[in-house]
Amino acid sequence: MFDLSRKVAIVTGASRGIGRAVAEALAGQGAHVIVNYTRSEALAEQVVQGILGRGGSAEAVRFDVADMGRAEQVVSEVAQRRGRLDILVANAGIAIDGVLLRIKEEDLDRVIAVNIKGTLACARAAIRVMMRARAGRVVVLSSVAGDVGNAGQAAYATTKAALQGLTKTLAREYASRNITVNAISPGLIETDMTAGLPAPVREHALRGIPLGRTGRPEEVAAAAVFLCSDEAGYVTGQILRVNGGLYV
Ligand code: NAD
Repeated sequence: MFDLSRKVAIVTGASRGIGRAVAEALAGQGAHVIVNYTRSEALAEQVVQGILGRGGSAEAVRFDVADMGRAEQVVSEVAQRRGRLDILVANAGIAIDGVLLRIKEEDLDRVIAVNIKGTLACARAAIRVMMRARAGRVVVLSSVAGDVGNAGQAAYATTKAALQGLTKTLAREYASRNITVNAISPGLIETDMTAGLPAPVREHALRGIPLGRTGRPEEVAAAAVFLCSDEAGYVTGQILRVNGGLYV
């Protein structure tokens, strides 16, 4: 099950956290994984070396997803060089927190540029290649903040809800080409993004999680492996919630 050998996958923002776990999990199933990063070359190289050390196949490729032209160019170049592109996991994302009345326009612009425009750019370049192959898997990282909102995350929640609309739209647009597009909506996962949560906020969040604990990046990665597999061929336009029951 979930054999990804001979497939080529791009995972954006894969130098740490959920992206890293997804890259490692896809490589574990046999895919050649492009580990995208923006700044942390050393961390991305660590991910690649770890994958190679376990007998997998991977390479690190730098680009900022928010630079739409460059992101599209690099994704197409990679596909051309490898001769195919089967999987895109659009994971790169940022949160700049703040309630509506305090959000700065520049912060709003940056969150939109990375989370929405970055995902759109990578998806567009990937789908262009996948259309020619009449096969492909796109997985987008949304968030529980996009499902139900989150006070203090007006910009972030807006973008993560928008990605659910994008996912459903792309699923409809490219189903006829056998390209599936799904989103994963994680709850509270232990990564650098959530490491700085103040203790009262964390405790409040934990009380709302039926499974009574935070999630691990590997648990999100397992969902991504499924959605990227041939076995998930009849699943498209779905939002798969990996959230411990936080929102059901
Ligand atoms: P993280 O901050 O640990 O990792 C995000 C990664 O994205 C980093 O490697 C970062 O360098 C990269 N990145 C940021 N901007 C980029 C850009 N412009 N171009 C390329 N890469 C860029 O976060 P994480 O917790 O691993 O989150 C991964 C995804 O999952 C994000 O989209 C996030 O919104 C989503 N998510 C996380 C949680 C959680 O609880 N951790 C919950 C819901 C959704």
